[in-house]
Amino acid sequence: MLEFSRVGAEVGATTATLQKTRTLGAYFRALDSDDDLRLAAIFMSGRAFGPAKRQTLGLGWRQINKTVTTLSGRTEEELGEIWRKHSDLGDWAGEALEGRTEGKDVSLEALAATLEEIRAARGSAKAAPLEKLLNRIDAKAARFVVKVISGEMRIGLSEGLVEAAVAEAFEVPITQVKRVHLITGDIGETAVRCRHRQFETTTVTLFQPVRFMLASPVETAQEALERMGTAKVWTEEKYDGVRCQLHHAGDRVELFSRDLKETTAAFPELTEAALGLDHEVLFDGEVLAHRDGKVLRFFELQHRLGRKVVDGALRKEVPVALVIFDLLSLDGRALLDEPLQERRRLLESLEVRHPFLLARVEEASTAGDLDRIFADTRERGNEGLMVKDPLSPYTPGRRGLAWLKLKRPLATLDVAVTAVEWGHGKRKGVLSDYTFAVLDTGSGRLVNVGKAYSGLTDAEIATMTRKFLDLTVEDLGHVRIVKPVVVLEVAFDSIQHSGRHKSGYALRFPRIVGIRHDKPVEEIDTLERVAALYDRYFGEKAEIPLSEVAET
Ligand code: AMP
Repeated sequence: MLEFSRVGAEVGATTATLQKTRTLGAYFRALDSDDDLRLAAIFMSGRAFGPAKRQTLGLGWRQINKTVTTLSGRTEEELGEIWRKHSDLGDWAGEALEGRTEGKDVSLEALAATLEEIRAARGSAKAAPLEKLLNRIDAKAARFVVKVISGEMRIGLSEGLVEAAVAEAFEVPITQVKRVHLITGDIGETAVRCRHRQFETTTVTLFQPVRFMLASPVETAQEALERMGTAKVWTEEKYDGVRCQLHHAGDRVELFSRDLKETTAAFPELTEAALGLDHEVLFDGEVLAHRDGKVLRFFELQHRLGRKVVDGALRKEVPVALVIFDLLSLDGRALLDEPLQERRRLLESLEVRHPFLLARVEEASTAGDLDRIFADTRERGNEGLMVKDPLSPYTPGRRGLAWLKLKRPLATLDVAVTAVEWGHGKRKGVLSDYTFAVLDTGSGRLVNVGKAYSGLTDAEIATMTRKFLDLTVEDLGHVRIVKPVVVLEVAFDSIQHSGRHKSGYALRFPRIVGIRHDKPVEEIDTLERVAALYDRYFGEKAEIPLSEVAET
């Protein structure tokens, strides 16, 4: 740890990125064992564990603070003074513990072992392994142990710079390092694979989550075709659920969410179904709440998310299905570099059954085709369309042009501003955040449905600030309640049920299209219209386009 800490301090002491990567690169190169290299790269990125392990320490700031305070034997004043000098937990601990520990060195592996002990311990017992380690080591190393544990290195080292250091250390082009990192999603594993030049073999490994391929937004069919630049494109529905990666081999199944967190426990029906598959697979798809052949609203799926335990009643109330749209690995064969059409052919050959469904693919070659398919999608009450290049490989983690999402605002609503807030950052000193309402004709009241931040120019915001100051009926400090006379036209991406607003709905990602100076507040849109839009686009869907293959 002393060498790690020396390098960490040297990296922190310079602002020159080239110098940082050189110093770190030399350190990585000098580490003989792969295990040390793996740990060093992870710790330098300010993490206690690689993402593949999916573990968190669960040791809070307060416990770390208390442990260091006790060990240091210093008074509160002394500690306060040291804190004011650094305002950083690790730097503070380093100085507070100087001369107060046994001053020994420990290996990176010993730190890893302590981290594992902390992770496995419960509640207040988590502090004991930390105390034992800090007591043994030199304060310079303690400084970095605390940095790793608190997850804040603060030495000006982004993950991108750690990648650059790996490139420098092992003379590998940075693009290659990034590619390996995108696939492994783990900087430690990336460093080791780059050292051994395992580029060909670097591909998916079951039970190590792969970063998801993402889509770039487009607004028109013409734009989609131009950006893709191919004669033929594939379209798929943009299903409104949550992204999910399913890994299966033997009697093991694991699921991962969009941010690569493990979500196996949330969807037991998918695990059970996967155990019945005769193949080792890695699926990419979207989980939907699905009952009696109908897709339930996203709101209902939300009941299933983030659950550690799903009981029988909930499973019955909100059953789920996985709409699969990609196959990344089949029986030990990685398919990332195969064209989408080949991955799809293999996927269809599996003849999966409910709760697995296949996304329906339609082909298009002209803007007219795409427009028609998009209109049909809308007609069925879906928000958007995915456009994919059938010849494209699967590029993990990338928002490229091989997948596009064609989305247009669902509708716009005319709404009245009911409250305004002072902005932050660039918008400091102006009233820039507007809460807005629609008319509830039943009660004759205005009910809030959202809050918009963007869409107006700086000059418009300045004018509106003066206007809202005049219209203020109640000054609550940060927020001002205003007389509802300003009418805005807002566009939005979707509507959700929400307990936050009186209306019971919230518009998602609202943007101000314009100020409707011409429109009196009596003529704004109504709560009934919001409810109707919600039912049409986000309510239960009788019809969901799925591939013929899957409709069992
Ligand atoms: P966005 O969240 O707007 O960036 O849209 C991308 C998301 O759409 C993906 O992460 C998926 O969760 C979701 N999605 C729904 N249907 C599909 C599909 N057929 N292919 C790919 N992604 C899809």
